[in-house]
Amino acid sequence: MNIQPTYSSLDYPGKMSLVLFTPGCDLRCKYCHNPQLLKNERLTKWDIEEIEEEVEKNLDFIDGIVLSGGEPLLHLDVIENFIKQAKDSNLLVKLDTNGLHPDEISEIIDDLDYVAMDIKAPLDKYYKISDIYPSNTKETINRTIEIILEHNVFLECRTTYVPQLLTPQDIYDLTKDLKCDMYTIQQFRNRVTYDSRLADYEEPNPEELLKIIKSLDTTIPEIHIKSNQFGNQIIKKE
Ligand code: SF4
Repeated sequence: MNIQPTYSSLDYPGKMSLVLFTPGCDLRCKYCHNPQLLKNERLTKWDIEEIEEEVEKNLDFIDGIVLSGGEPLLHLDVIENFIKQAKDSNLLVKLDTNGLHPDEISEIIDDLDYVAMDIKAPLDKYYKISDIYPSNTKETINRTIEIILEHNVFLECRTTYVPQLLTPQDIYDLTKDLKCDMYTIQQFRNRVTYDSRLADYEEPNPEELLKIIKSLDTTIPEIHIKSNQFGNQIIKKE
């Protein structure tokens, strides 16, 4: 399998979860820290069985599963099975997504408890982050947000801040009218990156992230900073 399921107390806030990684993605973010998942789009039936067994074995230790990747919605038929298994076992389900698959998310939205969606840049500036992205990125992501909010599923939006790719104004612009329950700005980490040139970029100082967050004009009720130095910091919670 590309990446083994991983236990985590961080990926589903406040819960112990099993994180299931799926391969393939329709973006190529320069900072992607799972580049091995971008090479192979396939999930074999042995992978699927292995994941289902891992969930089954650990039902007593976990509160939920996190569907992550890569982009899990590229494997809708497979993740529908994981979700069914989770729901039959009274587990919570969180989806990590790039927001580019509104039709697929509509199919499973009733069974999701939490969605963490990347907003990589202002929606008309994805060229800053990825050399490939759909021409209708803005409309597609807005549709995905609408579907999630209409169904009252908790929505966290998050941006990885790479000072060489984004500016504080980009974060201001992308959060200004963003509708979600929680926004997280994540510190860029240079250990493993899809574009090897980013390994030479310095990681931003958490103080820089704090300064950006304090300058925002947004009604988002909960705002976090995630950094290597301070972990997950709640900056605002209404
Ligand atoms: S960071 Fe996420 S959205 Fe970007 S290429 Fe990697 S898996 Fe895809």
